Amino acid sequence: MPPLVLGTTNRKKGAELAVLFAAVGLEVRTLADFDDALDVEETGETFADNAALKATRQARHLNRWVLGEDSGLMVDALGGQPGVFSARYSGPGATDASNNARLLAMLGDTPVEKRAARYACHMALSDPSGTIAAVVEEYCCGRILFEPRGSHGFGYDPLFELIEYHRTFGQLGPTVKSVLSHRARAARRLVPKLIRLVDSGRWA
Ligand code: IMP
Repeated sequence: MPPLVLGTTNRKKGAELAVLFAAVGLEVRTLADFDDALDVEETGETFADNAALKATRQARHLNRWVLGEDSGLMVDALGGQPGVFSARYSGPGATDASNNARLLAMLGDTPVEKRAARYACHMALSDPSGTIAAVVEEYCCGRILFEPRGSHGFGYDPLFELIEYHRTFGQLGPTVKSVLSHRARAARRLVPKLIRLVDSGRWA
């Protein structure tokens, strides 16, 4: 059976995705397994566009089934920013720390009840010819704290509080995140579609 290739170069995201798709029973590979993988530029204006680009371009190039994933943070008080610019919010050379610092600066002393935010995750699955076979999207709601808490996860996790849990993803850790996150919710929608593709014989 051909493997499922996770079309991301983000190591931590790749590790989360590998856990989420383990249940399908396919061999899961990442771009690190392919010396000639493309570095697909995220030129889309939406998460959906970028997920599709990452899936179809890489799939055609590698001639394999590829899962494209694009995700990010949308903050209500910032009109939905950083959105598709989440990874590069603080400009060239952005790091998680510099992006978090910019986010805190942009929110300033916005009161807690106006710091609502959500993570979005879009996934697109492409067959080896570059045809999209499935798409899903999901969200995870929370709010942005005034200072980081916890050291698990990546990106904005130490600032992103799940309101019902009074904890950030930085504090909650990988087991809880693998159930509650935007990526986990999207994967739960995609897994049955993936299983149908395998059972139908199209996964070849
Ligand atoms: P992408 O690789 O363009 O999809 O970038 C996603 C960016 O969104 C990451 O670099 C993070 O800044 C942010 N992001 C997406 N998912 C998460 C998450 O689960 N936790 C924290 N930040 C995330």
